[in-house]
Amino acid sequence: MRVAEIHDNKIVLKDRDKVELNGREGAIVKVVGCGLCGSDIVKFKEHISNDGTVLGHEIVAEIVEINSNSGFKAGDKIVASHHIPCFKCAYCKGKSYSMCQHFKETNLEPGGFSEYVFLSEEHLQYVTHLKPKNLSDEEASFYEPLGCCVRAVKRASLSPLSNVLVVGLGTIGLLMGQTLKAFGMTVHGCDIMPDRISKAQKLGINAFNSADLEFAHRHIFSHTDNIGVDCVFMTSGADAAIDVALNTVRLGGKILVFSSTPKNLGYTNNDIYYKELTVLGSYSPRPQDLETSLQLLTNGEVNVKYLSTVYQAEDIQKAFDDTMSNKIMKAYIKF
Ligand SMILES: [Zn+2]
Ligand SMILES: [Zn+2]
Repeated sequence: MRVAEIHDNKIVLKDRDKVELNGREGAIVKVVGCGLCGSDIVKFKEHISNDGTVLGHEIVAEIVEINSNSGFKAGDKIVASHHIPCFKCAYCKGKSYSMCQHFKETNLEPGGFSEYVFLSEEHLQYVTHLKPKNLSDEEASFYEPLGCCVRAVKRASLSPLSNVLVVGLGTIGLLMGQTLKAFGMTVHGCDIMPDRISKAQKLGINAFNSADLEFAHRHIFSHTDNIGVDCVFMTSGADAAIDVALNTVRLGGKILVFSSTPKNLGYTNNDIYYKELTVLGSYSPRPQDLETSLQLLTNGEVNVKYLSTVYQAEDIQKAFDDTMSNKIMKAYIKF
C-alpha cells in the first residue's frame, strides 16, 4: 500500500506491506482522503516526528474488512478520529481527557496519510461515525478538527449571551468562530491578513484587522459597552496575538489557549492576578465533542465549503509547502 512518510525533512510516498487485521478486532479501511492538520505541520517543521512516521488523522474512509461488534459493515463510508480516552484514570475523572495516557497512546495505524488504515475496536466504538450523506468527502474531513473547537468552546463554559473574540482567522479560527455562533454567542474575529478577514465576514463573524493594537482595543471596547470581551479564543500561532488578547479581554474574563507559539511567551502573573483572568488550555476532543461536531457539520451550522484545496497523494509535499506558506487555507489529500 502507498503511505506518505517523513524522510529526510521531506514527505515521501513509499510502498509498504498492507496493514492487516490478523485476527484482531477492528477494521481495515481504505482511505478516501485525509485533511492536513496544523499539528501535522508543527510535527514536520519542528522535527518532532522521526523518519518513517506517517502523519495525518482527519480521515474519510471506506471499510473494506471488519471483525467487530460495533455494527459497522464492509462498504460503510466513515469518518474517524485517532485518540480515545480510557474514561477511568485520574485525568479522565478530572475531565482532562486529552491528558489521559491511553488517549495519547491510541492512534491510527500507521497514520491517516496512507492508502489503508487499521482502526481498533475502540476506534469503531467511540470515535467512528458513518459519513453523513449530505456532506462531501472534504467537508466530512472536518469532523476531527471541528471536534477540537467544540471541546474548546464547551471547556470555556460561557453563557450564550457572551461576547467573544477569535484571534487568528485561519481554518481553525473560522471553525471556532462558527461554533461559538452556533452556541449563541456574539462573535468577533481578527487577523492581519485581509483575505481571511473577508472570508470570516462572509461566515457571519464580525471580523476586523488587528495589525494596529490600539485600533483592536478601541474596536472591541466600542462593541462591548466599553468593557472588552468575556473570552478570547487564541487560534493564532503568532507571538503578537498574546498582546491582542490582553488588550481586548474584559476584567475577570477568560483566555482560551488553543495553539502553540514560537517564542512560548505568556500571560504574566500580575496580569492574571490584578485582572482576575482565567487562562485555560484546550487540546483535543472527547467522543461527545466529536458527535457535536458531526451534528454541526450535518445541519450546516458550521460551513466548511470551499475551505479545502484538494491534492493527490503524490503531491503531498506541495500540500505541506502551500500550507506553510499560507498559500491555501486547508489541504485535503486524496488517496
Ligand atoms: Zn487535527
Ligand atoms: Zn484516562
